[in-house]
Amino acid sequence: MIITRKKPFGDVLAMVGDAKKVALVGCGSCAASCQTGGEKELAEMKALLESEGIEVVATVLPAECCHKMLVKKELKALKDTGCEAVIGMACGDGVQTVADNIVLPVYPANDTLFLGQIERVGIFHEYCRMCGDCVLGSTGGICPITKCAKSLVNGPCGGQKNGKCEVNPENDCAWIKIYERLVATGQEHKLWQTRPDKGHADVSYPRHINLREVKK
Ligand code: SF4
Ligand code: SF4
Repeated sequence: MIITRKKPFGDVLAMVGDAKKVALVGCGSCAASCQTGGEKELAEMKALLESEGIEVVATVLPAECCHKMLVKKELKALKDTGCEAVIGMACGDGVQTVADNIVLPVYPANDTLFLGQIERVGIFHEYCRMCGDCVLGSTGGICPITKCAKSLVNGPCGGQKNGKCEVNPENDCAWIKIYERLVATGQEHKLWQTRPDKGHADVSYPRHINLREVKK
């Protein structure tokens, strides 16, 4: 899930500027789970804007705001409303998907933080930085890119103390965890493998995938 956090309302208001008629676009998937763009948050944003004299001419909640066709369909609700700007209450992907579908200023109500695991309602942890070349098979299923403060693919760095990271002692040292996990699963020989430095030379943003071409 993509984890988002609400921007302060003052920041949203500053982006809206002089616009007096706006629309809100939430997301029924990740942002709803993060309590940043579901039904309740849309209603709260509407009330806040209206208390500032800004009319909310439409409120839409696509099941997924990163789905271009779904968003396109939902945005039909803005037709003939006099809408001057759209406030996107999804992740950065969702906000850009809205912008791809409408020629109006689009403003983000959220900051997009990371790809996360949901521990329970409202508690999220970062597990993967989407590096595009997964090494979990040799690291006991623990991501060194995400969980090690230095993203070392060959660790530990030597700074760990009592199993805690030298950069942020509140976090466990990822490589101690990787060691323990490899031992527990009978794969300790993988500790001696040397993983090539990932680098980012082969990654060119933005990345694209077309499964229709991949299947050919
Ligand atoms: S190595 Fe880590 S960052 Fe890369 S794909 Fe695997 S889990 Fe994600
Ligand atoms: S102490 Fe462990 S987690 Fe922290 S930077 Fe060094 S190897 Fe990475």
